[in-house]
Amino acid sequence: MSGAHPDPARVAELKAREDAAFVAARPRSQELWAAGQGVMPNGVPMSWLRTSYDHPPLFIESAEGSRLRDVDGHEYADFNIADMSMFTGYGPAPVVEAVSRQVARGSQYLLPTEDSIWVAGELGRRYGLPLWQFTLAATSANTEVIRIARSLTGREKVLFFDGKYHGHFDDVLVELEGDHLVPEEAGLPHDVTERTLVVPFNDLASLWQALASREVAVVITEPALTNNVGLLMPDAGFHDSLRELTRNAGTLLAYDETHTQVVGPGGLARMWGLAPDFVTVGKSIAAGIPLGAYGMTEEVAAVLQRPGGRDDTKPQVAVGGTLFGNPVSMAAARAAMSEVLTDGAYAHSQRLGTRLADGLSGVVTEAGLPWTTHRFWPRSGVSFSPAPPRNAVEATTVLDVPLRRLMRVYLANRGVWDAIIGAGPTCSVAATDEDVDAYVAAFGELVGELGVG
Ligand code: PMP
Repeated sequence: MSGAHPDPARVAELKAREDAAFVAARPRSQELWAAGQGVMPNGVPMSWLRTSYDHPPLFIESAEGSRLRDVDGHEYADFNIADMSMFTGYGPAPVVEAVSRQVARGSQYLLPTEDSIWVAGELGRRYGLPLWQFTLAATSANTEVIRIARSLTGREKVLFFDGKYHGHFDDVLVELEGDHLVPEEAGLPHDVTERTLVVPFNDLASLWQALASREVAVVITEPALTNNVGLLMPDAGFHDSLRELTRNAGTLLAYDETHTQVVGPGGLARMWGLAPDFVTVGKSIAAGIPLGAYGMTEEVAAVLQRPGGRDDTKPQVAVGGTLFGNPVSMAAARAAMSEVLTDGAYAHSQRLGTRLADGLSGVVTEAGLPWTTHRFWPRSGVSFSPAPPRNAVEATTVLDVPLRRLMRVYLANRGVWDAIIGAGPTCSVAATDEDVDAYVAAFGELVGELGVG
């Protein structure tokens, strides 16, 4: 152990042992992966899946409630919940019933159903914005928000905070390298960095410097950053200043609640009384059936309104997709919000989140480790640092990728499916005390084996 980080040699030794055990116990997954390689790059339906985990891919047989079952018969208490999209748990009966009924009546008409009115109204009640539109994913909700903001403001630039993730679309796939922007991945236009600004989270001076040019159409941020950087909480007063500075600069403000919606109905926007121009959501809002949505103020919505139908005198904002807002997604969202994502269900997941945080913090304290435990309603997790990071640079410095990778395979071998790297484990509304206790026990065993307990 040196400072907050365990001995790398011990981490590597345990990793080799756990990787071998993982592969040996999963022959059917290995067979399917080999077969997949003949027909799909990396042997999986999205090539990046292979690189999002360090261990070989796991093929899944089925899932129910809080549990995943792989094709080799192993069961896992699931704290990744498909990167937050299965916060409802797997196969909640009201969603199964509503979706089955809707598929039998027709999956898509490209005409509205009554459910869309209920879903838009309920999102409005939860998030406090009156008018809503639908897509198939949060990525496309964010894309459309940007187009609407550009059209309204006549400005091209978009601002994000360092450490963000808002989906895979060009404007957002740039990152800070030192003090300049670079494309995050290959395949992006060479000038992709020219329309995007990225500033450190919690840094109001840099934010104002970027906004003052009055070239920024919209700021998109999660209320607390929950992705590549683990968890970054806003400083006290940060959101009030963000709202004031964006207003002063004539810039619109969008909160992306795709992940943070799990804290309760209306996400952090409602909990913290935020006043954005847009909110975007996706993932668990329709229980993992594809649906993205964005809410907006009346003023913003005016750019889309055409009460008399086609209007060639008014520019048409580039929005839309054939399967967006389809009746199956709407039926799923209605069932999920009316019968699964209830106040009682959020309260249950929050109680378990606290149980998880208490358990992790107990292990950390007993081992005398200088680590911090997050408390984020249903979500928890450990930062390998004595104080929580405030921005992406601090978060990256303490990340310890080899230790994270060891943690995930170690937990998987003990029937616990951990969050993807950097993200914290989250208790779904279907999770149980036993699931949480299994997570804490496996984490405690690992700390013991690392020789720091
Ligand atoms: N916004 C946030 C905050 C997210 O975390 C994600 C996915 N991790 C997205 C948007 C994109 O969601 P999707 O991939 O479902 O479009």
